Amino acid sequence: MKQYDVAIIGAGVTGTSLLYVLSKYTNVKSMVLLEKYSEIAAVNSQRNNNSQTLHFGDIETNYNREKAVKVNEAAELVAAYLETIGKNEGLHHQSHKMILAVGEHEVAELEKRYEEIKDIFPKLRRLTKDEIADLEPKVVEGRDPNEKLLALCTEDGYAVDFGKLSESFVKHAKESDKNVDVILHKKIKEIQKNKKGYKIIAEGKTVEAAAVVVCAGSHSLIFAQKLGYGTELGLLPVAGSFYCAKNMLNGKVYTMQLKKLPFAAIHGDPDVKNPAETRFGPTAKVLPLLERHHYSTVPDFIRTSVFTIDGIVSLLKILADPTYFRFVLKNFSYDLPFIGKRIFVKDVQKIVPSAKADDIHLGKGIGGIRPQIVDTKNKKMNMGEAKIVGDKIIFNVTPSPGASVCLDNAKNDARKVVEFLGKKSKFDEKRMKEELRR
Ligand SMILES: Cc1cc2nc3c(=O)[nH]c(=O)nc-3n(C[C@H](O)[C@H](O)[C@H](O)COP(=O)(O)OP(=O)(O)OC[C@H]3O[C@@H](n4cnc5c(N)ncnc54)[C@H](O)[C@@H]3O)c2cc1C
Repeated sequence: MKQYDVAIIGAGVTGTSLLYVLSKYTNVKSMVLLEKYSEIAAVNSQRNNNSQTLHFGDIETNYNREKAVKVNEAAELVAAYLETIGKNEGLHHQSHKMILAVGEHEVAELEKRYEEIKDIFPKLRRLTKDEIADLEPKVVEGRDPNEKLLALCTEDGYAVDFGKLSESFVKHAKESDKNVDVILHKKIKEIQKNKKGYKIIAEGKTVEAAAVVVCAGSHSLIFAQKLGYGTELGLLPVAGSFYCAKNMLNGKVYTMQLKKLPFAAIHGDPDVKNPAETRFGPTAKVLPLLERHHYSTVPDFIRTSVFTIDGIVSLLKILADPTYFRFVLKNFSYDLPFIGKRIFVKDVQKIVPSAKADDIHLGKGIGGIRPQIVDTKNKKMNMGEAKIVGDKIIFNVTPSPGASVCLDNAKNDARKVVEFLGKKSKFDEKRMKEELRR
């Protein structure tokens, strides 16, 4: 049985960024990345399954100032990687991006937000209606001339192929002087604690590692709970679909946050691979699945703590809130054949008033599942990600903006991993900071 210093489970952007950071900036000698599918980034990090946005917090009115500061610092690391190490690898497409306020009430709110965050985001500038029309003609065309509009805009609109970014992390990790193994197509069945650390049992393969980091999306919580961690947490899987249209927008256009909801309001984004295609979404539909389109993950969902008495009470309490209930119902309707796009187009028209139902179509087989964390003790939904730290093991559950913060998350995990491995292990954070700078 092969032994490693560190085993990482899950080859999405979270696991691969950690592999990169450990291989480049620590003295950890051996590491293995284990993945159940035959490709890197086959689930939420896959290009089509997320909104492809590098979130900085400037146009995301669903983030408060504190979160915007944190996400900005984290996204800068990814932006620096894209501009330096990954520069010639076709990982991203850059354009302008804006947050659009429509009507008197939203305009007043956005003015207020601008005052709150302008010191964090000095590149953000206010656009008048005419300036919006210059950049995004379809946002202004056909709109009531008396309707008030305001946008905050920057040139830092990064559309990122987080799948390709994951592949890039693996490629550069393998080029390092460390012993880096990548084992694909091996589903991990069990993680067992033993004297040396952990035994990781996959289909037809078992390895041992002194420290383990589980980056398996929603499944991280299942592994954690099997080892007795995070038992007070459950998951509310929220699927996101996208509608597609031809040539509607030149850059990213976000809309103002829906009050009380942890999900970003519908936005329009040029596709990273084919910018002539505009994607509108994501929708937010509650589904009993841990991976989109994989019905074999229904039993996995049932195994999470939402199916305890506390879990069921928590879910009912969350969904009984009239705001959530209306939102969930509306989002269900978006995926319905024929009428779905007729309902959804009303949201698109907030961005592109002239859009018609026949201009958009539901993207087939695309979209992912956000693992929203449910605190079954306090019976509420947590807004962010979950990191559970155990005895020489870490579990990452990563809803949005998990891909934007991947390198910062990897930095935090690398700190813990060297601590787990003992005094001789070192993490050169200073070099990481110097190298990952725009
Ligand atoms: C609709 C939607 C829109 C989003 N938009 C954005 C966005 O614009 N910007 C942003 O930053 N974030 C966005 N996110 C969030 C982002 O996609 C995720 O946070 C990120 O991709 C998570 O990466 P991950 O590596 O943790 O998980 P994943 O990419 O899901 O990878 C987990 C990996 O673990 C593997 N795995 C699971 N179980 C096992 C097992 N038993 N054995 C071996 N391997 C296993 C899986 O196969 C998978 O490859 C969005 C998410 C959704 C759903």
